Amino acid sequence: MFIRVSNFCRKILNFEKITTPNISKICPVVTIAHKSHNISHQDISDNALKVLYRLHKFGYEAYLVGGGVRDLLLGKQPKDFDITTNATPEQMRKLFRNCRLVGRRFRLAHVMFGEETIEVATFRGHHAVENKNKKNHNLSQYAHNGMLLRDNIFGSIEDDAQRRDLTINSLYYNIIDCTVRDYIGGLRDLKTGIIRMIGNAETRYREDPVRMLRVIRFSVKLGMGIAPETQNPIPQLAALLYDIPPARLFEEILKLLQAGHGYNTYLKLCKYQLFKPLFPMIAKYFATNHNSNVEKMIQLVLITTDTRIQNQMRVNPAFLFAAMYWYPQLEATSIISTKNNLSYYDAFVLSMNDILEKITRSLAIPKRITNLIRDIWHLQLRLARRNNKRIFIIMEHPSFRAAYNLLEMRANIEHDHDLTHLSMWWQEFQISSLPKQKIMIKTLDYPIERKI
Ligand code: ATP
Ligand code: MG
Repeated sequence: MFIRVSNFCRKILNFEKITTPNISKICPVVTIAHKSHNISHQDISDNALKVLYRLHKFGYEAYLVGGGVRDLLLGKQPKDFDITTNATPEQMRKLFRNCRLVGRRFRLAHVMFGEETIEVATFRGHHAVENKNKKNHNLSQYAHNGMLLRDNIFGSIEDDAQRRDLTINSLYYNIIDCTVRDYIGGLRDLKTGIIRMIGNAETRYREDPVRMLRVIRFSVKLGMGIAPETQNPIPQLAALLYDIPPARLFEEILKLLQAGHGYNTYLKLCKYQLFKPLFPMIAKYFATNHNSNVEKMIQLVLITTDTRIQNQMRVNPAFLFAAMYWYPQLEATSIISTKNNLSYYDAFVLSMNDILEKITRSLAIPKRITNLIRDIWHLQLRLARRNNKRIFIIMEHPSFRAAYNLLEMRANIEHDHDLTHLSMWWQEFQISSLPKQKIMIKTLDYPIERKI
């Protein structure tokens, strides 16, 4: 897929018809003709085009929307292509054999094409009034705190434009006449680089607190500023994140920290007081001078993760979590060991269980990932012991490399002589020939029993 970055940006950013200063209020639709932007069908995934054409063929309205349009307008490669239509999820199911309906709170159709899934949402409508009507209770429902528990009232494209989160995410591309439609001032914000919540920001955050995280995520990812009325309410409302279901929170955290801009996103989350409700167990170890080992570890692991992503290397959330929670795990181990008069090993294992159990209450980390976190932590003990007979077995452990990387980071952070020595020993051991490795084992001159 080829994206003509410069022309496209130049055209759209110089677009002169954008005159409305009445941002994020209802404004007349601004339609940008094909010649005034350069979104090309070549830049849109074939599968998204197939879905759009089929919907049109059967008489439905259908548009490309969200990140697909936003990123194409910015000359970036979209992560995925989202579609919106006036076909209901049930109508979608009838139209596409490869379609499944997902989500209760926000019902969507996923049209599956092998590796690629095209997400299709029916135009959302307003529901403040309808909500009072019992008949619509299954479609739309608010909790007492203003959180939107269900958002399945359908409407027109104009309604839909106002129900989206950010103005820059509320641009619609029509494949039939190749126009871009802007109902809300999104083009202007895209042009000036502003992240702006549609409507009253506080109400929109109360309806769905994840929107606060999305504001931060897009502002960092796209290098944009945040409108004052969009950023001001965030610190006071940050605690609303405690109410987000654990599965959704886990997904959002990966998007925030494991998508190539993790370190800057983390800094911005801290700035808006959003980090603590996401990671309360970690934040309590933060120091006033930001110089705690926990903070140094977060910085190191996020910068490393960002670099790996830039270099198209694989990243595993298990490593990220193992590193972020490492010092809380150590702290808990010493508390448990002193309190219960247990061996260090027993306390370490108890505390692993304890910490992972607490984390998974608010973050639905899948079991395969918590198992890997356990392995990486447990291997820290085994790496420290260097039991002669087991050294080669440790090296064959599937999580050895991740465990070694964590050991190396710990050594970098703590500047502890023994730990640095240990880390360097393992580094050399991995790259040495077998005869040299045997000599290294024989001549181990290091206190074998390090606690950790
Ligand atoms: P990307 O896919 O690149 O992360 P995106 O903007 O496409 O960015 P998605 O999560 O794919 O994000 O959502 C698609 C679109 O759905 C968004 O652009 C936005 O218009 C709308 N949307 C997503 N989440 C919300 C939300 N919590 N509240 C309101 N609208 C939302
Ligand atoms: Mg998207």
